[in-house]
Amino acid sequence: MTTAAPAKPARRTPLARTGAARSSAESRIVRSIGEAIADRRLPPGTKLTEESLAEAFGVSRERVRKVLLLLAQRRVVTLIPNRGAFVAKPSPKEAREVFEARRVIERAIMERLERLPRPLSDDMLEKLRGHGALEDAAERAADRKAMIRLSGQFHLLLAEFAGNATLAGILTDLIDRSSLAIAAFERRSSHTCSADDHRRLIAALIGNRPGEATALMIEHLDDVERQLDLEAKTDTRIDLKAIFADEPEPT
Ligand SMILES: [Zn+2]
Repeated sequence: MTTAAPAKPARRTPLARTGAARSSAESRIVRSIGEAIADRRLPPGTKLTEESLAEAFGVSRERVRKVLLLLAQRRVVTLIPNRGAFVAKPSPKEAREVFEARRVIERAIMERLERLPRPLSDDMLEKLRGHGALEDAAERAADRKAMIRLSGQFHLLLAEFAGNATLAGILTDLIDRSSLAIAAFERRSSHTCSADDHRRLIAALIGNRPGEATALMIEHLDDVERQLDLEAKTDTRIDLKAIFADEPEPT
């Protein structure tokens, strides 16, 4: 005998409309925007219109506004009165500050990881090796978007292993902001992190020669910062004559 399909669990009860459900939709949008910034689909200075984002994510404009406010607090988005929201464009000073902050936070993360008992847990070893394999595959396939996405995830994975959610939260913001700095100041079309550096970091973490993984991480972040051209003071691509071509002649 067939029975009627069991009633769907009442997902659309007020329970599902709690703050937790709302905030998970918001964090999904925040994550998607972070990834689009990282892989350059959203370059610095891009205008973020509420209508388009609401349509793209199937949410209300009110919710988009909340996400934009949150991203503005994290300095990933700039809100300009009467003009709207834009992907932030960091200054060279801000870019240097972000990398300095990453060195402080990631040194703390690496020191915590170096203090973990060896061998590392099977779960950690599996995740580290699994991640390494994904980065290798993306590199072999020359899949630049995947390489950029995975390189950010690698740093967050280490933060997760370190077991300090506050450090991990700060690092999430800093990674989005360093993606913006890289997009704004990279010298040529390079990618964020070298997969080779990550391979060495994974080996150092598994092997644990005291201090090695921490030193490698600091060197790695220095290298990423060195790829940026932070000396440029003015944007020479702006043609002022073209901009003011329609100005009336002086009388
Ligand atoms: Zn890296």
